[in-house]
Amino acid sequence: MRATLANMAPQGFRAMWAELAEVGRDGGTGGYRRFAWTRTDAVLREWFTGQAEARGMDVVTDRAGNLWAWTVDPDAHGPGLVLGSHLDSVPDGGAFDGPLGVVSAFAALDLLRAAGQEPARPLGIACFGDEEGARFGVACAGSKLLTGALDADRARGLTDAEGTSMAEAMTQAGFDAAAVGPDEETLRRIGTFVELHVEQGRALVDTGAAVGVASSIWSHGRWRLDLRGRADHAGTTRLADRDDPMLALAAAVQEARAAAERAGTVATIGKLAVAPNGVNAIPSSVTAWLDARGDEADVRTVVAEVGAAAGVIPVEESWTGPTVFDAGLRDRLAAALGTDGVPAPVLPTGAGHDAGILAAAGVPTAMLFVRNPTGVSHSPAEHAEEADCLAGVAALARVVQELG
Ligand SMILES: [Zn+2]
Repeated sequence: MRATLANMAPQGFRAMWAELAEVGRDGGTGGYRRFAWTRTDAVLREWFTGQAEARGMDVVTDRAGNLWAWTVDPDAHGPGLVLGSHLDSVPDGGAFDGPLGVVSAFAALDLLRAAGQEPARPLGIACFGDEEGARFGVACAGSKLLTGALDADRARGLTDAEGTSMAEAMTQAGFDAAAVGPDEETLRRIGTFVELHVEQGRALVDTGAAVGVASSIWSHGRWRLDLRGRADHAGTTRLADRDDPMLALAAAVQEARAAAERAGTVATIGKLAVAPNGVNAIPSSVTAWLDARGDEADVRTVVAEVGAAAGVIPVEESWTGPTVFDAGLRDRLAAALGTDGVPAPVLPTGAGHDAGILAAAGVPTAMLFVRNPTGVSHSPAEHAEEADCLAGVAALARVVQELG
């Protein structure tokens, strides 16, 4: 099935994009706050289900809370080809990280059907839950629960900033927290998974291509630094008498940058909890979270150096090893998406994705990236031009022709 696709009509893509535009949007920053198992999350799940049903797809929720829309029964005719991504966001996130992959998957199916091409294999569109880990601190929680990479009991016990556990949040959202766990039945239905995602860097800008194919994902982890001191008065306590954990934090922040530069990795301290968090109080404690990505040995070195600078041993909260996507699949898609015999660009990324979790679990997996003109991501300024998004849709439709 390699018939030429009609030119993409932008209306369907635009309509879906417009429907999502205000969901979970913060009026002040313009960024998105779409966190797992919240009311906003429920609205996004309802939107996904509505889009699937409008296309005659059946939607099933797996034991990890991820949504799967299927054109035909994958148990009877599968395994199938699955497209998709996630709809949740980081705090004050952009519009594209996640939703672009889901919207583009629906639009790609529309494009194929407009050309009279129903996918030969069952086509699935996935909406992974809690990809960003913004609420409970573990990234790709939905896909990790699905594959067993995240222990179900540990997940249920994770708490958000208000002290609500994931189990409680799931229950409040009407999901059976007790049933959460690895889901072999769902995994068996996935013959191949292809996730389209906005690029989170500027590699494609330099190639001049709107769409590229992923080669690998760096290993990455999150660590917690528990810095203890003694609360005291900011005016009356002599400097020499202070035990101020903010100084250890400052050393940690500086060392994260310096150590990452030495190691050729990236490292970031972007989240803090300060107690008592008063302008006129020396803190009693500062909790800082360190995100580090790159080659595993280099990352471990950076984390140890940051801990030494701060005088603590960092507590590992999550770790994801490197992902190298299926080379045969990657090359096949790069060739299929190339022009004039020149393959589409192949590039690595420092961002984690559900595709990496599935690849690690043995699912043949590939990723497509859509050009991001500024490279900015996890920010309200995240952007992709509509023409590039439509090129991504056409690329996904081409993937279905190639693999479906
Ligand atoms: Zn994402």
